[in-house]
Order: sequence, then structure tokens, then C-alpha cells
Amino acid sequence: MKKIFFFDRDGTLIKNIPYLNDPNKIEYFPDTVQTLKKLKSLDFEFIIVTNQSGIPRGLITTEQLNSIHKKIREDLAAHEIEILDILYAPYGPKSTHSWRKPGTGMLEESFKRYTIDKENSYFVGDNITDIQCANNYGLKSFFLGKDKIEKTIYIDKLSDISINV
Ligand SMILES: [Mg+2]
Repeated sequence: MKKIFFFDRDGTLIKNIPYLNDPNKIEYFPDTVQTLKKLKSLDFEFIIVTNQSGIPRGLITTEQLNSIHKKIREDLAAHEIEILDILYAPYGPKSTHSWRKPGTGMLEESFKRYTIDKENSYFVGDNITDIQCANNYGLKSFFLGKDKIEKTIYIDKLSDISINV
């Protein structure tokens, strides 16, 4: 069974540039790589789950999004970090599609694609909807935000993630 760290993308693994559509503008946080390396050494694998309303808004094409995700995979592979999967929800804020966080569709799909040890998997996000998504699915979480919500661990930066193994 795979132990997974589910990561939100924007504002969590990379800096939040609204409707990012250019792979050359991707910026990581100073502790993104070191945190992923640490988690890899604890036998975690990584799945990115990201809402991308820029697609229905016409601000990003699917090709641009794919090129951004290809670049993220390549950048991290240079540090021997593999991203197992990247799922995105190309729906706007008014959509009730289950894939759009806080809906749990992207988590459900991940659990269909892989055999995942839910008890030992985690979600990390910077938006309350990330944590709502994790809670809705019963996953433990780390929260890079300040909003008040139950059942999460508040962190100030990615490298604050700590796992008792
Ligand atoms: Mg985010």
C-alpha cells in the first residue's frame, strides 16, 4: 500500500500566481524540495490535486496547464523526486462537480487508481477548501492557512510538516 502526501499546488508546492499559464513563471518555495525529499525518505509518494478554474474562465488552455505540470515533474525529477500523479479540476467556483475541492472527487479517483494506505496518508493545502476536502474524505491534513477549521494541523511553512513514524 502506498503512503501518499496529497498536495494542493498553488500556494502550497509553488507560489500562488493567479491563473498561472507559463511554465517559466513557476516559483517554488524555499523549502519545497527539502520537504519532499524528507517525506520521500519516510516512504511517502506524492499526488498533486489542484482546482484550475482558469480553464473554464478561458485564462489557461489545457495545453498550457499540461506544460506547467510537465515542468513541475521535470524540476522535481532533477532532485530525484517523483510525482506519482497530478489531478486537476477544470471547473469554476459555481460548479458543483465532485472533483472541485472541497469536493472529494480527486481523492476518490486517486484511491481508485492506486492502493493507498488512507490511515497513513495526508493532505497539505493553503486554502480552507483543501482542508474541508481532506476532512470530507477523512484524511489527516496540514494547513498552511489561518482560517479556523477542525481536525487539521496548522503549519507556517512546508518544512514544518512533521510525522510521527
Ligand atoms: Mg492553494
